[in-house]
Amino acid sequence: MRFERLRLCGFKSFVEPVDIEIRPGLTGVVGPNGCGKSNLVEGLRWLMGANSAKAMRASGMDEVIFAGTAGGRPARSWAEVSLEIDNSSRRAPAQFNDSDQLVVTRRVVRRADGSVSQYSINGKEVRARDVQMLFADASTGATSPALVRQGQISELINAKPTERRRFLEEAAGVTGLAARRHEAQLR
Ligand code: ATP
Ligand code: MG
Repeated sequence: MRFERLRLCGFKSFVEPVDIEIRPGLTGVVGPNGCGKSNLVEGLRWLMGANSAKAMRASGMDEVIFAGTAGGRPARSWAEVSLEIDNSSRRAPAQFNDSDQLVVTRRVVRRADGSVSQYSINGKEVRARDVQMLFADASTGATSPALVRQGQISELINAKPTERRRFLEEAAGVTGLAARRHEAQLR
């Protein structure tokens, strides 16, 4: 599965629709401070199902929606991120594997009684879990060590040995095992 195109609208600083083609090979994103480079990666992470305040640098679910500017540009009431994936290798989970292209979309709408988040794959509404599993099977996803947060490297360098070990265990995917061992020892 190869990511081909990322679209953002109303997401964080991307107030107008932005359409980014992702060509094969290495992609670099450059620009001045505050232009939205991290927001772009967070858009991708959010689409994959991330909700944590730390991953999104936002405390509430609707904080990812464009909040308006001091210059008077009004806030938006919804945000949407969409990713086109080349599935010609047909490696998606069985229920989504009937087409050469997958379009995964996540949308959040601000409501007075709390915001609502919706996911779809090729226009069909799906659960958050379906999207998370789709990316987990492709060895990526919102919590995958493939996505490294800004500042995470210096955090790692400056960490105490025990913290650094937790970090490495997380990357190696053994955190769950350690938790289960701890539980077993308590019995
Ligand atoms: P740096 O090079 O410093 O890491 P960057 O390119 O990664 O910068 P981002 O952190 O992606 O920049 O973007 C920060 C900008 O996004 C800030 O100006 C902030 O006000 C804006 N921003 C974040 N969330 C929202 C939101 N919900 N609505 C409007 N603007 C937002
Ligand atoms: Mg940044």
